[in-house]
Amino acid sequence: MELLDVDKLIEEFESMTKDAGNVQRQTLKKILEENGCAEYLQNLGLNGRTDPESFKACVPLVTHNDLQPYIQRIVDGSSSPILTGKPITTISLSSGTTQGKPKFVPFNDELMETTLQIYRTSYAFRTREFPIENGKALQLIYSSKQSKTKGGLIAGTATTNVFRNSQFKNTMKAMQSQCCSPDEVIFGHDFHQSLYCHLLCGLIFREEIQFISSTFSHSIVHAFRTFEQVWEELCADIREGVLTSRITFPSVRSAMAKLLKPNPELADLIHKKCLGLNNWYGLIPELFPNVKYIYGIMTGSMEPYLKKLRHYARDLPLISADYGSSEGWIGANVNPNVPPELATYVVLPDIGYFEFIPLKENVEEAKPVGLSEVKVGEEYEVIITSFAGLYRYRLGDVVKVTGFHNLSPELKFICRRNLMLTINIDKNTEKDLQLAVEAASKLNTEEKLEVLDFSSHVDLSTNPGHYVIFWEISGEVREEVLEECCNCLDRSFVDAGYVSSRKINAIGPLELRVVQRGTFQKILNHYVGLGAALSQFKTPRCVGSTSNEVLQILCNNVVKSYFSTAF
Ligand code: AMP
Repeated sequence: MELLDVDKLIEEFESMTKDAGNVQRQTLKKILEENGCAEYLQNLGLNGRTDPESFKACVPLVTHNDLQPYIQRIVDGSSSPILTGKPITTISLSSGTTQGKPKFVPFNDELMETTLQIYRTSYAFRTREFPIENGKALQLIYSSKQSKTKGGLIAGTATTNVFRNSQFKNTMKAMQSQCCSPDEVIFGHDFHQSLYCHLLCGLIFREEIQFISSTFSHSIVHAFRTFEQVWEELCADIREGVLTSRITFPSVRSAMAKLLKPNPELADLIHKKCLGLNNWYGLIPELFPNVKYIYGIMTGSMEPYLKKLRHYARDLPLISADYGSSEGWIGANVNPNVPPELATYVVLPDIGYFEFIPLKENVEEAKPVGLSEVKVGEEYEVIITSFAGLYRYRLGDVVKVTGFHNLSPELKFICRRNLMLTINIDKNTEKDLQLAVEAASKLNTEEKLEVLDFSSHVDLSTNPGHYVIFWEISGEVREEVLEECCNCLDRSFVDAGYVSSRKINAIGPLELRVVQRGTFQKILNHYVGLGAALSQFKTPRCVGSTSNEVLQILCNNVVKSYFSTAF
């Protein structure tokens, strides 16, 4: 297997972004030529035109809901060209953790190719800064089951569809990023068992591991939190060369048996290293002496896990992975030495046609602008036109343009647009919530207060309604401290609508509900039970009353609640 030519990849990227405007026009032309015969486009009267002006004049902006009837016909097995020229044979289930239930979106070879293209692009830039040797990677990746839809299409989460594609493995090899775990582990039917085996494989190949990765960095934090619970069991397995009886799937057991040999020296070494750590600080470099960096999406709803990740990683670089969605990819992280809090993503102008709705103006009237027309410092909602049958599709993400790489914009992920705490005139986004939680959890560092995870809810059953913040915490924290945290949360929502409503009691005092340890694990299990993959899991930061079961899990596990006295 030939390794990728990093210089060539960078050169190609540079020349493409220098001509971003033209490349966008060409990309739109290609998408419309390939799919012009699809019923959806036929009905819009483009009549073969492929220029951006006609496209914008004929094709409406849509949400997933608008496309649902078309997608449903595809799912049900209609083989006529509905959204794409070539029939869709695979469906992705989006993670569903941002909106409560998984959505179906089309997946095809072109989407697969753009996925690999973005992987290769950021790999090239990463490798230039942080070269890796030809070793292995501890990739904490999981693949949910692929099923068949009523109409006979293959359906799985987007990551599952990618991991199961034969090209994925080849590209990983060419990127010196081969997963140290066997396929049976990645594709195991129980993610707890897969996670345990990933950790075990990592330890067996500890000297060869070059980096640790996952799709979203939550999975890395989750894995090492689990390691804290199971490390002695892992050591015992290595000592005896026999896999714990907890792993029950025969295919996983036999794949692991091929790797696991009695190795008391290694078991002793790991045991000693674990005992020598203070509160698991620096666990990753201790276990994996040749790791060069940690890699996974770390921005947006993953930011709250950075503190814990740094704790485990000590001084290892944390590199945020690229920006995309089940619907399509958007941008690559080409500045890997920037800390994740400042990570930006350069739009790849040939992987889709992109438009941006300015958020400064009145939303109803705001006209989307093209990739070359965005302004630095402004926020936009992203609109995707993809090679997989989505045309002018509102992704629902808010990004800020921080600059340009050649002529292609660099985007900072801000938040999901529809995740919002609102009761009357107040508007608080996921980002506002994250900042409030950050401020409150920093209040009293001597207390060793650690917010393991959090979510929120608007409680309208009280009059007036009020915000509820759920916290799962570790450490012994005094009542007075939590009362102060609750006040701090309330004060940290600085949105003028919120503050003024609070002052006149049009919004009631914020409530902090502390939930039992393990509550967020139950939520994760709930989503995995629904068919979501752990790889794409994002803790729902705002639970609406439509996500009834998740709200029930949270409410059933409350151990203590506090009301703010800040106003
Ligand atoms: P999924 O529904 O699993 O396809 O997740 C896609 C969503 O994850 C995107 O619409 C974003 O909201 C979020 N996301 C993906 N990549 C990033 C990133 N690099 N930074 C922040 N959020 C991201």
